Amino acid sequence: NPVSGDSLRRRFLNFYASHGHKVLPSSSLVPDDPTVLLTIAGMLQFKPIFLGKVPREAPRAATAQRCIRTNDVENVGRTARHQTFFEMLGNFSFGDYFKKDAIKWAWEISTEEFGLPIDRLWVSIYEDDDEAFEIWHNEMGVPVERIKRMGAEDNFWTSGVTGPCGPCSELYYDFYPERGHSDADLGDDSRFVEFYNLVFMQYNKMDDGSLEPLKQKNIDTGLGLERLARILQKVPNNYETDLIYPIIEKASELANVSYVHADDQTKMKLKIIGDHLRAVVYLLSDGVLPSNIGRGYVVRRLIRRAVRTGRLLGIKGDGKGNLEGAFLPAIAEKVIKLSTHIDSDVKARSTRILGELQREELRFVQTLERGEKLLEEMIANAVSNANKTGNVPCISGKDAFLLYDTYGFPVEITKEIAEERNVGVDMNGFDIEMEGQRRQSQAAHNVVRLGVEDGRNLVEDVSDTEFLGYDTLSARAVIES
Ligand code: ATP
Ligand code: MG
Ligand code: MG
Ligand code: MG
Repeated sequence: NPVSGDSLRRRFLNFYASHGHKVLPSSSLVPDDPTVLLTIAGMLQFKPIFLGKVPREAPRAATAQRCIRTNDVENVGRTARHQTFFEMLGNFSFGDYFKKDAIKWAWEISTEEFGLPIDRLWVSIYEDDDEAFEIWHNEMGVPVERIKRMGAEDNFWTSGVTGPCGPCSELYYDFYPERGHSDADLGDDSRFVEFYNLVFMQYNKMDDGSLEPLKQKNIDTGLGLERLARILQKVPNNYETDLIYPIIEKASELANVSYVHADDQTKMKLKIIGDHLRAVVYLLSDGVLPSNIGRGYVVRRLIRRAVRTGRLLGIKGDGKGNLEGAFLPAIAEKVIKLSTHIDSDVKARSTRILGELQREELRFVQTLERGEKLLEEMIANAVSNANKTGNVPCISGKDAFLLYDTYGFPVEITKEIAEERNVGVDMNGFDIEMEGQRRQSQAAHNVVRLGVEDGRNLVEDVSDTEFLGYDTLSARAVIES
């Protein structure tokens, strides 16, 4: 099947190999970079080359990089296009070719290799990048009305608070070309999907925010494999591609529901499991163990969210009759089966991965039920208090902290459950409690900062001991208990 996920990955790498790129393996999800939490893009393994700190191995490279983006955790199942775990196909130039060839090859692979109809492709460019406009318009023949100039938030790419960056140009696929171009908005994801980002990497962003030109001009690109598969397999979202759907089917089987006939809420839960199981299997494989700090907390949180989601779907025990058993390993086996062409090491590590999952699930389930009961009481109290005072119902920071500290509830789960009942959580109060515990802790720690760039959180910096900062969505300041 020429449009299977595995074929598309291979076709991408072959295309760029035939244009002189050296095909390199994906790097680990744990970057070789103490300032970065997880691998969020293909360029991370090349950061030292872009910065001129180490010599290039080859002038051009191509990879299929496994990535994790915790900033997209809330989008999982909500949008058609986001997972926390995905593969980014990338072609890179280290001081070799620049804008013109990057655009030419991106256009060629999209329209010729993958056969995307020209009249369905739109491009965005950075607002003042006239050079990119010229190339797209004059040389590729893209009509003016399908080239959109956009601001820094969408079209100036930075891998973090500091580091290599530059203006970018992106390719979008139009699912409804018949809607015309007069009021088309590339941000409308019911019509468009962004699939290929070309970064013209020519600056280093300094601590003070200033841009220092890099010694050489580079190309860094990212094409989302699941998004490409979704387009070419003609399915409504990334989750229904052959890269993820078998995992969802396994979860449906355990929950005794049919994905096809399920309502949207059920579908979303199945997608959450489909995504989170992929993420945790690859994270565990890359050596990240569940814990209360940094990367370990990301894994723990994803595992716990998957467990809770499975229970909401009605999966009991191992889903096969053993009420004392764990169900994550059965689904993880599917993930491992699908892993061959993503990361051939996963299979060899499967015993350890399945063991870790089982242990973490059973540990969580022990406290989950007691915690859920307590949380129900807290929600009821919050509602009755609110009825008396006329305030918005809200769980106190102290209560959220008790659930976190004593019952192992990631505060995001508390928030999620409370929000399902229209009850808030006093996150400020929770942070104060956390801070109090932190102060008492004897643990040595380093202060770290999380990358917040134009309202986006692409990179979370992390120390090897402790988080003190957190972004809007994910890793919270926590202490090793
Ligand atoms: P979006 O605007 O859709 O969130 P992005 O601009 O954050 O995407 P980039 O940082 O440009 O994404 O990453 C390059 C490519 O990687 C994207 O064009 C897309 O194909 C893919 N990609 C990014 N985030 C995800 C995700 N969470 N799940 C699946 N694919 C993704
Ligand atoms: Mg994004
Ligand atoms: Mg974008
Ligand atoms: Mg983008």
